[in-house]
Amino acid sequence: MTKSGRPDEDGLIARYFRPLATAPGAARLLDDAASYRAPDGYELILTTDAIVAGVHFFADDPPDAVARKALRVNLSDLAAKGAAPAGYLLTIALTEDWSEDWLESFCEGLSSDQEEFGISLYGGDTVRTPGPLFISVTAFGLTPEGRVPRRTKATVGQKLYVTGTVGDAALGLKIRLDGTLKSRWGLNAAETEHLLDRYLLPEPRLKAAALVAEFATAAMDVSDGLAGDLGRMCAASEVGAVLDAGRVPLSAAARKAVETDPSALPSVLTGGDDYEVLATVDADRAADFERAAKTAGVAMTEIGQIVAPFSGRVRVERAGQTLALDRLAFRHF
Ligand code: ADP
Ligand code: MG
Repeated sequence: MTKSGRPDEDGLIARYFRPLATAPGAARLLDDAASYRAPDGYELILTTDAIVAGVHFFADDPPDAVARKALRVNLSDLAAKGAAPAGYLLTIALTEDWSEDWLESFCEGLSSDQEEFGISLYGGDTVRTPGPLFISVTAFGLTPEGRVPRRTKATVGQKLYVTGTVGDAALGLKIRLDGTLKSRWGLNAAETEHLLDRYLLPEPRLKAAALVAEFATAAMDVSDGLAGDLGRMCAASEVGAVLDAGRVPLSAAARKAVETDPSALPSVLTGGDDYEVLATVDADRAADFERAAKTAGVAMTEIGQIVAPFSGRVRVERAGQTLALDRLAFRHF
């Protein structure tokens, strides 16, 4: 115990983090490092993402939601590489005013997601910071050998798919920042809640991971906006893409917002925090892919196709009209 009555670093690790380190390789967090033996026939997929208070979440967000967001943005990367998650490491930089109540709730969030996704904590680091609260998660998982989809592997003629619904989180963030929007968009309480929740708590599309590994050649998670992220995939693959805005899957709430206020559409296509998976599939495997997605209960929508490279890389079309991306932000249609 320290003067403040709060546990010192070792006590803190023992009390809050040890119960989360359930895998044998985590060695109960009593060792310098953890170990993990990847089974034969799989590739170990590794990813890391940090979130910072005031940048990626609000400092007064519920601590359990902050924890789950930190974990889930990483699990989303694993899903995009076709991986089943196995575990994660956690680095947390606590501010001087951290409280045990906050940390307890934070760890409850981790615990419930560990259970939901079948993963263990393997280790981490705990430090103090004078700056904003900082949380970094490094997650790892397994994809069948030779099946890891890459951003570089999109080829001309392939169909383009996305999981779930796009734009909810971007609209949710806008609502959170501007209290007048929900009435301007004509949203009821449940619709507003849906959009706010999608910003607060991403849903990593792990149910799509096996399908992505089996059928997709290129895939990525959409975290910085659908159109922009598609542009990054096209750049990596040296191809172009046509995105059909009319086919982009919207939740009922997002659909209502866009229909009431068409100027919200650019936020849907270019806003961030979707954490959906974007994937390309060969045209002759598309029917099998769609059937498999249906059987697996995974929402997967065809939204466009890969074409020969052109300057700008992504063409957004709607009802046969081309929309210039840089003008999406103010064009009404
Ligand atoms: P060292 O300074 O020798 O690296 P630490 O005191 O930082 O040791 O960590 C002791 C143990 O506690 C290690 O197994 C480490 O992985 C674990 N640990 C520390 N902080 C965290 C954390 N935030 N989450 C999970 N494990 C942690
Ligand atoms: Mg350390």
